[in-house]
Amino acid sequence: MKDYSESDKKIILKDYRGLLRASKKFRTTPEDTAYIRKAFNYAAEAHMTMRRKSGEPYITHPIAVARICTEEIGLGATSIACALLHDTVEDTDVTLEDIELIFGRREKRIIDGLTKISGAFDLSTSDQAENFRKMILTLPDDVRVIFIKLADRLHNMRTLGSMRPDKQRKIASETLFLYAPLAHRLGLNAVKTELEDLSLKYTEPEAYNEIAIKLRKSQEIRARFISQFISPLKKELDKTGLKYSIKGRPKSIYSIYNKIKKKKVTFEEIYDLFAVRIILDSKQENEKTDAWRVYSVVTDFYRPNPDRLRDWITNPRSNGYESLHTTVMSPTGKWVEIQIRSERMDEIAEKGMAAHWKYKDSKKKIESKFDNWINKIRDLVENKETDTLDFIDDFKLNLYAEEMYIFTPKGELRTLPKNATALDFAFDIHGDIGKKCIGAKVNHKLVPLNHILSSGDQVEIITSNKQKPKEAWLDFVVTSKARSNVKQSLKEEVKQVAEQGKESLKRKLKSLKVDYNDKNISELLKLYDFKNPLDLNFQIANGKIDLSKIKSIVVKGGILKYEKESVLTSLFRRKQKEAKKLDQGEIISSFGGKSSEAIILGDDSLKQVDYKIAKCCSPIPGDNVFGFLTINEGIKIHRTNCPNAVQLMSHYAYRVLKAKWKSQTLKEFSVGVEFTGIDGMGILNSLTNLVTGSLNINIKSLNIGSEAGFFNGNLNALVHDTKHLDDLMKEMKKIEGIKTVERVY
Ligand code: MN
Repeated sequence: MKDYSESDKKIILKDYRGLLRASKKFRTTPEDTAYIRKAFNYAAEAHMTMRRKSGEPYITHPIAVARICTEEIGLGATSIACALLHDTVEDTDVTLEDIELIFGRREKRIIDGLTKISGAFDLSTSDQAENFRKMILTLPDDVRVIFIKLADRLHNMRTLGSMRPDKQRKIASETLFLYAPLAHRLGLNAVKTELEDLSLKYTEPEAYNEIAIKLRKSQEIRARFISQFISPLKKELDKTGLKYSIKGRPKSIYSIYNKIKKKKVTFEEIYDLFAVRIILDSKQENEKTDAWRVYSVVTDFYRPNPDRLRDWITNPRSNGYESLHTTVMSPTGKWVEIQIRSERMDEIAEKGMAAHWKYKDSKKKIESKFDNWINKIRDLVENKETDTLDFIDDFKLNLYAEEMYIFTPKGELRTLPKNATALDFAFDIHGDIGKKCIGAKVNHKLVPLNHILSSGDQVEIITSNKQKPKEAWLDFVVTSKARSNVKQSLKEEVKQVAEQGKESLKRKLKSLKVDYNDKNISELLKLYDFKNPLDLNFQIANGKIDLSKIKSIVVKGGILKYEKESVLTSLFRRKQKEAKKLDQGEIISSFGGKSSEAIILGDDSLKQVDYKIAKCCSPIPGDNVFGFLTINEGIKIHRTNCPNAVQLMSHYAYRVLKAKWKSQTLKEFSVGVEFTGIDGMGILNSLTNLVTGSLNINIKSLNIGSEAGFFNGNLNALVHDTKHLDDLMKEMKKIEGIKTVERVY
C-alpha cells in the first residue's frame, strides 16, 4: 500500500474497511483476518499501476468482488481471499506458482479455475463454448470458482456504464445468456435478478427505463394495496403467537419486460403483480408446522387457487429452494401469490447454496440433490462426442427447467423437468434403457414414447433389443441427458454410413490418380462447400454428390486445387482472423478494411455490400440494427431486440457488424401490425379509410377474424420508417373499438 498516492489510499482503505465489516461473521479468529489482509496487500501491490475504465485504482474491483462474495452470497474467508486475488494471475506478473507458495494449494486451484474461465466468450465460437465447458468442469471440484466468477460478473455489470456501448451490449448479452441462468441454478436469486435487470438496462435501454419509471410512479398504489390485503391477516396471525414479518415485493423489471413481451399485455395490466412473503422466525424443528399454520390462516381469509399450491418444503427444489406457495384471490379480483417460509429458507432463497451450507448438518437431503444435479452436468460434460454448442443449448435447457417428481415401479423418486416424456425418464434411468425404449406404462396404462409425464406418475419402461435411437426422438425429448444420448447415437450411425462414402471417394480418386490426403480433401471440402469430411462422406454415401466434378480441379501430379473463393468466404475468413487478434471482449466493428465503419442501410446508391433484411424481425429504418455475417446467405440485418440477437451476439460475436440506417423517404418496407378489439360496425371501413386516406400508406394485406364479439386482425402495410409506423399505430388506436395495436415484425 505504501506506494499508492494519498488520495488513492484513502479510497482503497475505505473500501477495504467496508469489506471487513461485511465479512465480520466469517472472520471468527484473528488468523482469518490476517489471512484476508495478506491477500489484500498482495493483490493491492500486484495491481499497483492499474486503473479501471472509470479511473479508480484497479484494486477497488477485487475488493468489491470479495465483498459481494461474502455479503451477498455468504462465502467465507477462503473465497474472500481468492476473490481479492482473482485477477492477479491473469492481469499482472503474478504466477500460479507464486500463489501456491504464498497462500497454498487450495488457493492456487481456485485462482487457476478463475483464470481459465475468464477467457470464456472472448474469442471465436468454439473457444467460448469450450471455455464454458471448462467452467462447468470445475463445478464438482470447487463450486467456489463459479460463485466468485458470478460475483466478478455482477460487479462488472454494476460498473458497465464506463464501457463503450458495443462492449456493453456484448457483455450484457453474455450475462443474460449464461451467467443469469447459472446464478438461477445455483439458487442465487438476488444475484440472478440483478444480472437480468442490468442486462436489460444495456440491451434494451428504452424499455428498461420506461418500466423503471412506471414502477416508481406506481409504488404508492402497490403499498396501499398490500397494506389493505394483509391487515386482516395480521390480526389473525398475531393471535397464533407466531413471530413473523410480511414483505410485498414487485416483480423485477426484467420479468415484467418478459411478461409484456410474451403475454402481450401492457404494463398497466400487470404492474400490481407481486408476491406477498410471510417470513417466520421459527425454530428449525417447527418451521414446517408453522408454515402450514400460516397457510391455514391465509386461506381462511382468501380463496386459494387449488392448482397453484406448491410445497417446496417437503420436496425442496434441486437448487436448495424451500418455501410454501399458494395463490389466492384478493378482494379486488387479482390473484396474489403468497410465499410462506422461515428466515432460514428465505436466506437460502436469496443467497442460495452457500447460505445453506451454514445449516448443512440439518439438511442432508438438499445436498444430495445438489450433488445429483452436478453429476448430471458431469455426465454431459464428459460426453466428449457432444458438439460444444449443442452442449450449451442443452445445458441452458437444464438450467431453466421447472421440476416434477416421477416414481419408478419400486417407488424410487426421480426428479425430471416439466414436460419430460416417458423417453426422457428412460434415459434418466440409464442411457442404454433409453436407447432401447419402445414404450412405457404410466400408472399401469400403456403409453407411447412421447407421452408427457405429470408429477406423481409411476412409470415402467418397456424395452426391446431391436430398438435404436431415431432422429424424430429429438422432436420431443426435453432433458439434456436424453438429447445428448440420442445425438451421439445418431452421430455414430452417420459415421458408419460416412465410412461407405469414404470408400467410394477413395475409389474415385484412385481412378483419377489423385492421392487421398488431407491437402486434397480440404480442396474437395471447398469444392463441395462442406465444413468437414464426415458430412461430405455421408452425402457421398447417400448419392447426393456428383463425384465427376472432381476431374475439373485436378492439377498435374495428382494434386487437387480449387481456386474460386467467393468474396463472402474471404470476408468471413478475414473476420475470423481479426477476431483472434482483437482484444478480449471486443465486438468487431471494422469493415472493409477501415475500422469502426458501419454498413449503411436504406440507400442503394451507397450500398457497399449486399445485405438482406432478416425475416425473423424484419427491421425498418429507425430500428436499432446490426449486421450478421451468415455462412450461406451473406449479411443479414437484424433488429438489436430481435429474439435471436442475444444468441447471435454471444455465440458469434466475431460475425457481428455495425449497421445503421441512412435517412431516406423513398423506399418502403413491409411491416406487420396485429390489432384486437371489440366487434363493432364499420371497423374495416374506418381502418382502410385511415390507412389509405389520411396516412397514405399502401396496404399489402388486411385480415380480420372475429369470435364472440371480439376481433383479431392483421395488417400488412408498407412504411418508410419507424416514425411512419408509429404514426400509423397511433391513429389505429384512436379508432373506436380497437383495444390493442402491436407491431409483430
Ligand atoms: Mn475481475
